[in-house]
Amino acid sequence: VERTLVLVKPDGVSRGLTGTILSRIEAKGYTIAELKQVRATREVLEEHYAEHVGKPFFEPLVEFMLSGPIVAAVFEGQRVIEGFRSLAGTTEPTAAAPGTIRGDLGRDWGVKVQQNLVHGSDSAESAEREIGIWFA
Ligand code: ATP
Repeated sequence: VERTLVLVKPDGVSRGLTGTILSRIEAKGYTIAELKQVRATREVLEEHYAEHVGKPFFEPLVEFMLSGPIVAAVFEGQRVIEGFRSLAGTTEPTAAAPGTIRGDLGRDWGVKVQQNLVHGSDSAESAEREIGIWFA
């Protein structure tokens, strides 16, 4: 069965949306295989966001991801990678469609990084790589 890594980012946890977000994913029909609350480290974030190292938003992104606890989960189900990304909505919460997690619960806060509540793996290869990073 397919697996994906989901992160509830620090904005989601600090706003008290962890339960709402996990509940929406479960309500779509996916199941929780692993779940924990963690503080990220710079090392973990440099691995997780390896493709973004050196981009202008990389430092603000790391600072944001270090700013508070994160909830990391592994969700399972047929086509869960595609299904979760569809449920999450597009990267920018202002543009994300109503009905999606980002579209319903997020907005632009006028800061240098998109605080967009969640992360989800974008391919089967990324999912296995990212699960290995967060659930070593
Ligand atoms: P995620 O990978 O978080 O599910 P995504 O695939 O839509 O979302 P990526 O392109 O992988 O986003 O970027 C990772 C994260 O970096 C985004 O979720 C967002 O928080 C931040 N980010 C990406 N692009 C920008 C940008 N142009 N300006 C500010 N922040 C950005």
